Amino acid sequence: MQDEKGILIVLSGPAGVGKGTVCNALREKNTGIEYSVSATTREPRAGEKDGVNYFFKTKLEFEKMIEDNRLLEWAKYVNNYYGTPIDPVLDTVNNGKDIILEIEVQGAKKVKERYPEGIFIFLMPPSLSELRTRITERGTETQDLINERMTVAQEELEMMEYYDYVVENDQVEYAVDRIRSIVTAEHCKRERL
Ligand code: 5GP
Repeated sequence: MQDEKGILIVLSGPAGVGKGTVCNALREKNTGIEYSVSATTREPRAGEKDGVNYFFKTKLEFEKMIEDNRLLEWAKYVNNYYGTPIDPVLDTVNNGKDIILEIEVQGAKKVKERYPEGIFIFLMPPSLSELRTRITERGTETQDLINERMTVAQEELEMMEYYDYVVENDQVEYAVDRIRSIVTAEHCKRERL
């Protein structure tokens, strides 16, 4: 049986937990799940491409997107704006395809209010010290920024209880398998409705 609508999947959790890596691994597996490209005002990191990793915007451009209601959700995170363009997300689910949003927890909360039929997955680090190691090893952040991200991460962990599923990112392959199982199970559940 074919679902009419695709599923909007929110993958959230503290920065540095590996959401990006897990999403990329999901994409490589050709699961058929689309990936939502966010808009942001932060500077591109080395190797990041406009329109692929993010749509890189100025503050003014981003604020215009907010004003024009072109975002499903947006949040300010460590002094930058991040947001999900609404049209590609709704077009994808309306065309019967699943789409994954990789976003921080404030944004996830807003999506839950606006689109409660989505599924909300919290990606959890094996431990806080492991999270610090991962953020530090990435080598793209200054010490101050690392500390700021760790403070935010601790607050973010407390939001776990609002999610449908918690997936530990002990190893990327395992996390990807668990997410795929969740999506499959959700499709089976929805086919009965
Ligand atoms: P980074 O700067 O490391 O790429 O992302 C910082 C945080 O912003 C991460 O937790 C990431 O998941 C989150 N993020 C990325 N895109 C969006 C978005 O569209 N909306 C929200 N709310 N958060 C986002």
